[in-house]
Amino acid sequence: MVSPREMEGRPVTLLPGVGTRLAGRLERLGIRTVADLLFHLPHRYEDRTHIRPMGTLRPGEKALVEGVVELAEVARGRRSRLLCRLSDGTGRLDLVFFRFYPRQVEQLRRGVVVQCFGEVRQGYAGMQMAHPEYRQVEAGGEVGEAALTPVYPTTEGLAQAQLRRLAEHALTLLPDALPDRLPAAYQPDPGWPNLEEALRRVHRPPPDADIDALLEGCDPATRRLAFEELLAHHLTLRRRRQVLQARAAAMVLDGGTEQVAAFRARLPFQLTAAQERVDAELAADMARPTPMLRLVQGDVGSGKTVVAALACLRAVGSGGQAAVMAPTELLAEQHLRTLHGWFSPLGIEVAWVGGKSGAAERRAALQRIAEGRAGVAVGTHALFQDPVTFRRLALVVVDEQHRFGVHQRMALKEKGGGEVEPHQLIMTATPIPRTLAMTAYADLDVSAIDERPPGRTPVQTVVVSDRRRGEVVERVRAALDEGRQAYWVCTLIESSDELEAEAAEETAARLREALPGHRVALIHGRLPPAEKESVMAAFAAGDVALLVATTVIEVGVDVPNASLMIIENAERLGLAQLHQLRGRVGRGRAASTCVLMYHGPLSETARARLAVLRETDDGFVIARRDLEIRGPGELLGTRQTGALTLRVADLGRDAGLLDAVGRVGDRLLREEPGVAEALIRRWVGDAERYGQV
Ligand code: ADP
Ligand code: MG
Repeated sequence: MVSPREMEGRPVTLLPGVGTRLAGRLERLGIRTVADLLFHLPHRYEDRTHIRPMGTLRPGEKALVEGVVELAEVARGRRSRLLCRLSDGTGRLDLVFFRFYPRQVEQLRRGVVVQCFGEVRQGYAGMQMAHPEYRQVEAGGEVGEAALTPVYPTTEGLAQAQLRRLAEHALTLLPDALPDRLPAAYQPDPGWPNLEEALRRVHRPPPDADIDALLEGCDPATRRLAFEELLAHHLTLRRRRQVLQARAAAMVLDGGTEQVAAFRARLPFQLTAAQERVDAELAADMARPTPMLRLVQGDVGSGKTVVAALACLRAVGSGGQAAVMAPTELLAEQHLRTLHGWFSPLGIEVAWVGGKSGAAERRAALQRIAEGRAGVAVGTHALFQDPVTFRRLALVVVDEQHRFGVHQRMALKEKGGGEVEPHQLIMTATPIPRTLAMTAYADLDVSAIDERPPGRTPVQTVVVSDRRRGEVVERVRAALDEGRQAYWVCTLIESSDELEAEAAEETAARLREALPGHRVALIHGRLPPAEKESVMAAFAAGDVALLVATTVIEVGVDVPNASLMIIENAERLGLAQLHQLRGRVGRGRAASTCVLMYHGPLSETARARLAVLRETDDGFVIARRDLEIRGPGELLGTRQTGALTLRVADLGRDAGLLDAVGRVGDRLLREEPGVAEALIRRWVGDAERYGQV
């Protein structure tokens, strides 16, 4: 007797006719178990449920027809063909086979009745089908198929018919192969089918089903399946959080009062109300012995760094260490400068763990971190590489989280030393709509810095064709003549670092020529760190007037006196990315301008997208539009991180389900943890794939 759970994880090789070769091909589609097979949904359907009168056929459509063979012949020529004319009383249809076996000539002889399915084309003498699927039938004795025919995404060497047969077989194993684990009380919509009905409907829809609704996720069956999958992901993240918080205690970071007061007294500005609120939320989290897991969202320029600095001061002031990780060398270096400037007067040492610092320097930094003399370590992903050990790592700050995978974030906290789990503060300028955050970041609490520091003038954004480059250069000259500073951002589609660097070099050379008397500097990802550092320092100090840059300056760069930005080929970048770039200006008191220069002609959509940036400076509005236009993968950066791969659901399409997912998920975890486990195992995988975080 096989228990239901064993049934559920049953490998496809237990199905008749599935050997290792076929299993290997299925594996390429991500299908290992019978359950995987059932979740491998059709991406189209064909209608073979009713026989179409030949007289009604139109070119381009796929249809099932039935007729008697009126004549069949092999036409000899350069390539011989098998031609066969069918008639059903309403019209005629020619079948053409350019490749055929002698057996087929026999099968399609005059007088035989056949049913065939294929795409209708306009032939020389009326409608025809090339290489249709066909079979011999009894005259008038047959009707069409009982359900719409599924067409599955497939892979080389795996025939559609084979996949169909396997899916068909898997359906016969329901409900045992995939029992419905969601009790009715947790179904958000009583009108939804249960799991078995939903799967049957999606794989074999009845003849009257609305195909568009099925494919667009509006059918109750697709909604039921998408809901369960999103629920499973939500549960995975919530569970991960529970496991993490239960596994080890965190240091109680309730000290640092003096350091915080001294720091605040030296700040040249007052915190905004939003910064104060978020700081209080962080302080409360960190004063508890369970690890903080908090995401701070704040639009570009909202002042996240200062809030992170306060958290670091609490960690250090309580006897712990803090690690601050940034996604790019440039941003990490800037954090180093900022934090060093803020902390050294307080007697707190900030160490640097960059990618390419000198060996001796690096060894010294590692030692000071290991001995606990450096209170704060700043760096890139190099921070979570092996040689870095902390004495008492109590807080991990990850800036611009969307650039990192969840896994990298998880790796850094292993540095805590074992018994204590560091608190985690994740910062992002990507304003994720709330519902989306609930799924993608369900393992984190979310705080928002939803206010910008006062005194900022909104950035004026203009969209111009690159045919007006000359005028744009004049505009830059005028700004520089007034003592203002500017960025010129070069972008490429095929953004290999190397090509991008080359393009930027060329642009810089041309601009130097066009703007004599002004210092033009260049920064890109391939410069040695020391050079990047000195270029940025010169720009920050006002010694460089125009900074030609690649998108390396996208995140975090902060030079308040820069008030003009030109972005080349703006149409190639995502809205959120453009918003990030634009956030580099408008940081000071001067009125700022951002010129989005495009390479025409622009499509309607591209024009509409750029218009969004002209109309609003609100990161949330922009993110929502980006979500509509480009889907959630771009927004969350999950393409790169692979953090969220969905089989059935689509975050954009099914966003409307997310509220219910959050509600039901939290109830399930409280009331039915066993069900939650089963759903996680079903959709996300085994314990080791989510428990060890
Ligand atoms: P982001 O949220 O984009 O990381 P930063 O932390 O870089 O923003 O802050 C942007 C700029 O605003 C910095 O120059 C910072 O010193 C300044 N800033 C931060 N908070 C305030 C405030 N409350 N009042 C005035 N300026 C502030
Ligand atoms: Mg920042």
